[in-house]
Amino acid sequence: MRVFISADLEGISGVVHAEHTRRDGREHDLARRLMTAEVNAAIEGALAGGAGEVVVNDSHGTMRNLLPDLLHPKAQLITGSPKPLSMMEGIDDGAYCCAMFVGYHARMGQPGVLSHTYHGAVVREVRLNGRAMGETGINAALAGYFGVPVTLVTGDDRVCREAADLIPGIVTAPVKHARTRFSARCLHPQAACALIRARAEEAVRAKVEPLVLAQPVTLELSFLHSGQAEAVAGLPGVEMLDPVTVSFTGDMLQTFRVLRALLTLAASV
Ligand SMILES: [Zn+2]
Repeated sequence: MRVFISADLEGISGVVHAEHTRRDGREHDLARRLMTAEVNAAIEGALAGGAGEVVVNDSHGTMRNLLPDLLHPKAQLITGSPKPLSMMEGIDDGAYCCAMFVGYHARMGQPGVLSHTYHGAVVREVRLNGRAMGETGINAALAGYFGVPVTLVTGDDRVCREAADLIPGIVTAPVKHARTRFSARCLHPQAACALIRARAEEAVRAKVEPLVLAQPVTLELSFLHSGQAEAVAGLPGVEMLDPVTVSFTGDMLQTFRVLRALLTLAASV
């Protein structure tokens, strides 16, 4: 059994501020250490639950956050950026029994810790087939396209609720409770790791269906301002719905890759 882990940073216990998440943040190295420990806890749980192989994809910012020398020796690490499937790079390799999302956060517009959807300075909302989705939903839908169920989400209580609303039967590990977008009541790092280890072991065996969206998938992407929509207007297959919203329709893999490209273009203005 092979397990895929996508690891983000905003949902790690103790992380609440850009000083933790930005490359040049003064508390970034601390956050990287905490992130590595939580990912190790998920790996330990997956192995205890019967996984023979674990591949971890570093999914935050530079995608060079996890500390390779401190990572569990039985796991393999996909590190670096850019990569075609971004936060889900490697999910198309085949033969994964399940995927786990560690350190995830709520979508933009929700009151979770450091909530955003892919790019906090670009995205107001993403809808797939009419349903608002954050990184949890979008990435789970891509995993679903490849037949892989997401069985575990860890992060604050808000992202855990978001995941449970979307994916029946998903196992969650709330390692902190959001007070505001920039504050939280956090489990001690050791308690957070113990919770993740236990829930990951359970998640390997959890009966969860892959999140498969009806094809073709329609993406509606609302930007923060009209200049960002103007930056992508007129591209083949991209339709303007209103001054800040564009749409695209394709299969889930095309839709995911077009979304990534639209965000990169829109972020350039
Ligand atoms: Zn993220």
